[in-house]
Amino acid sequence: MGEFELIRRYFSPLAGQSRAASLVLGPGDDCAIERVAPGNELVFSVDTLVEGGHFPAGYNPEHLGWRSLAVAASDLAAMGAQPVCFTLALTLPEASPEWLEHFSRGLSRASRAFGLELAGGDTTRGPLTLTLQVHGEVPAGGAILRSGAAEDDYVCVSGTLGEAGAALDYLDAVSPSEDEQAVLERYHAPVPRLDLGMALQGLASAAIDISDGLLADLGHILEASGVGAQLDPRAVPVSSAVARLKGEEEALRLALEAGDDYELCVAVPRGAWDSLPDTVRTQLTIIGKVVSGSGITGIEAAPVAGGYDHFGSK
Ligand code: ADP
Ligand code: MG
Repeated sequence: MGEFELIRRYFSPLAGQSRAASLVLGPGDDCAIERVAPGNELVFSVDTLVEGGHFPAGYNPEHLGWRSLAVAASDLAAMGAQPVCFTLALTLPEASPEWLEHFSRGLSRASRAFGLELAGGDTTRGPLTLTLQVHGEVPAGGAILRSGAAEDDYVCVSGTLGEAGAALDYLDAVSPSEDEQAVLERYHAPVPRLDLGMALQGLASAAIDISDGLLADLGHILEASGVGAQLDPRAVPVSSAVARLKGEEEALRLALEAGDDYELCVAVPRGAWDSLPDTVRTQLTIIGKVVSGSGITGIEAAPVAGGYDHFGSK
């Protein structure tokens, strides 16, 4: 199977399935074409996943297909952007029809679930590596940045935290328990908070998606905004499944430090909190407030969490 046959068989069928109106031209030409609606801005981001680093060697290709797009789409959620399309640069050691079949199936499901249409890509041979660029749109000036948090804002997170981190201990489980299965699902099939991000546009003062751990990612908001935060660790939404599997203390540590959950951490001005629609407010938990100064206080014996650093010693 040659490169073009591979693209035709496994990736061309994904084009057109989410009918992104602003994608004028998809795969097949030298470039894709996207029409950005007047008054909107294009929001884009690129992510690379390398086998052995970002996912285990021999990782289930259907999970990989879903996960790679979910992880990339999560950055759009953090900006409050409406998803439009993505490109895929795929480097493969070999053209295995079985692997490609499963990978493209996972990718296709994610593409439809997130409303992100495959616009094009590149296919090369080498160590398994995936690079996905996602495109979204916001009304001009409407993107939620990391730098907008201000003193007295609430610090909030969506969902529950620590499940994907706990899952790392069960990746090889032969017959996982119900709780183990629940956390594994979080790791294999994260769901980016795209609707929440869009709903928070114009209301949240800052946002980030939690890929490296709450403390690390909140730290990025605080640094960009030139403020600090006071957290109440008892308010952090730990997962009950993780608490049962690992105990309360470890569940909290994972909620604070572990990555891969792809929930949102947002700052919301107190005035805006009351005007949040119920459907938005119920997705968020207030875990503290923004204060003057820098860094995070309130977490006793706070673990030094810089997040994952590819070139760090951690
Ligand atoms: P070029 O040589 O101009 O870079 P390519 O031969 O790399 O073109 O790609 C031909 C077409 O196939 C392009 O439109 C490109 O977007 C598309 N394409 C290549 N790889 C993929 C892929 N993995 N998924 C989707 N489209 C792809
Ligand atoms: Mg090419």
